[in-house]
Amino acid sequence: MSTQNNRERSKHLYEEALEHIVGGVNSPSRSFKAVGGGAPVFMKRAKGAHFWDEDDNRYIDYLAAYGPIITGHAHPHITKAITDAAENGVLYGTPTGLEIRLAKMLKEAIPSMDKVRFVNSGTEAVMTTIRVARAYTKRSKIIKFAGCYHGHSDLVLVAAGSGPSTLGIPDSAGVPASIAHEVITVPFNDLHGLREALDKWKDEVAAVMVEPIVGNFGMVMPKPGFLEGLCKMAHDNGSLVIYDEVITAFRFHYGSAQTYAGLQNHEAIQPDLTALGKIIGGGLPIGAYGGRKHIMEQVAPLGPAYQAGTMAGNPASIASGIACLEILQGEGVYEEMERLSIRLTEGLQASADRHGIPLTINRIRGSFSAHFCQHPVTDYDEAQDTDGEAFAAFFRHMLDQGINLAPSKYEAWFLTTAHTDEDIQETLAAAEESFRQMASE
Ligand code: PMP
Repeated sequence: MSTQNNRERSKHLYEEALEHIVGGVNSPSRSFKAVGGGAPVFMKRAKGAHFWDEDDNRYIDYLAAYGPIITGHAHPHITKAITDAAENGVLYGTPTGLEIRLAKMLKEAIPSMDKVRFVNSGTEAVMTTIRVARAYTKRSKIIKFAGCYHGHSDLVLVAAGSGPSTLGIPDSAGVPASIAHEVITVPFNDLHGLREALDKWKDEVAAVMVEPIVGNFGMVMPKPGFLEGLCKMAHDNGSLVIYDEVITAFRFHYGSAQTYAGLQNHEAIQPDLTALGKIIGGGLPIGAYGGRKHIMEQVAPLGPAYQAGTMAGNPASIASGIACLEILQGEGVYEEMERLSIRLTEGLQASADRHGIPLTINRIRGSFSAHFCQHPVTDYDEAQDTDGEAFAAFFRHMLDQGINLAPSKYEAWFLTTAHTDEDIQETLAAAEESFRQMASE
């Protein structure tokens, strides 16, 4: 296996980027700040499960662009859909038939959505579900769960207060305290915390928002009964339930977490509103939200809740999304991603065990998170209480051997339909060498 320490062009480009782009990156998660700093890798080409950087090093990719690239990079079916769309004009500012097609595909796969609206990002989708929930309930407070990420709109950039039933504090400069006071944060998987918060804020709570399967502090399943309890408590309180399925929709099966066989009692865990993004655009910018008809009818032009977008429903993103979902409808697609991820996680665990490195893997079908710790990871506190330095060392050893992971201990590994047994084998060999070096350091 080749060692790829020569990333000179990436270093030069990073220096140049720092002069022109704030922090040198267009999203903070791309910086290497959490893994010891330095230049991130500047990629110039991607195909299937592989990336090539500016120095022509080749990488196996498990980032999948933080989720959307589930069919691998530059899949011919998606590329053709985008090329055709480009030839027909990429933006009309009028309705199109294509939008109806994708809306119908989403509704069929996620039946709690009677009506859908397309936007341009997961952030926008979530932000609007909150506005709609507030318009519908005529209440203003939102309950969310610690460590769940819901995009960067003001209201969801709020951290937990000092206890489960205190109001939030801003997690970012520029978010006014008055907005943070509209948000209550409770621990994930903790129905007691939710009960306490609902009892305290009662008919002020417009909605309870959750990632039904967490993708943002590792991959974390809800404990049995958690979503059932959450939905019941919220509804008994007259509050809506919003699922942020920006990561989870079409990730584990052709559908979303609310219809995933790994979760029981589907009827008891249906949300009122759902936010989508990532995979449904096949790699082009997209978001969508949807829900029950009478709730969605709050949205303009039918109702008083305003939401709009120049780029919303643009033909290129919609065509790309349709093509991506068509691929995911193929037989055995999810089973194959799962098979490879079982092989990969079993190999990673065995390798870490061999070298005495504590590792806890949370795998859900074709994606997983690997936490450097001995304890289970079921909530944000447990995910925080893991060895960030060990992760940083592992990340760098893997990168040097051509394995591209997200530069954060909280992010998931995503298998795609493009990964092969050879990729897994190469990754396991790199992991074995990484753990060996870590054990000797
Ligand atoms: N919700 C969840 C669960 C997410 O993971 C993300 C992005 N990682 C978002 C919302 C925001 O999506 P976007 O980056 O497209 O705005």
